[in-house]
Amino acid sequence: MLFKPERLKYVRKQIETKGCVFCEAVSRGVGRDSLVLYADDTVMVVMNKFPYNTGHVLVLPRRHEGELPQLSPKENANVFAMVQRCVKVLKEAYTPAGFNVGMNLGASAGAGIPEHLHVHVIPRWNGDTNFFPLIAQTKVVVETLEQTYDRLIPYFDASRS
Ligand SMILES: [Zn+2]
Repeated sequence: MLFKPERLKYVRKQIETKGCVFCEAVSRGVGRDSLVLYADDTVMVVMNKFPYNTGHVLVLPRRHEGELPQLSPKENANVFAMVQRCVKVLKEAYTPAGFNVGMNLGASAGAGIPEHLHVHVIPRWNGDTNFFPLIAQTKVVVETLEQTYDRLIPYFDASRS
């Protein structure tokens, strides 16, 4: 058999995922270097390299997929369960006043990386703004990405789940 559609699909997938920052990060595994906090067969959590606020994390299907309707029921369920877990973790770690949780689907909707679905989980404090925490009269914790990573990673240890 000369034509193998499955093989073709595989090759195309390799091309698509190449250059995807999320797939590249998870290929390096969980760690401070990749900023990946958690990864299993269906879901992963990575810190946003350019956080809107301290503790800004992204929850993604492990599979390189940009279309929300294309997620399997299992991926759907696991991604949302992980969003819940991240909210719980961030509440414990930072006691923010609230959260923004959401997705931008497509570049025109503001998605920076539309080809790989990701749910933003962003802690909010009274008096912060979308992009820069105001110094005055807030409880915003300003940390480096590494400090945030070190603070959050214990919550994602298998032993604590
Ligand atoms: Zn990807």
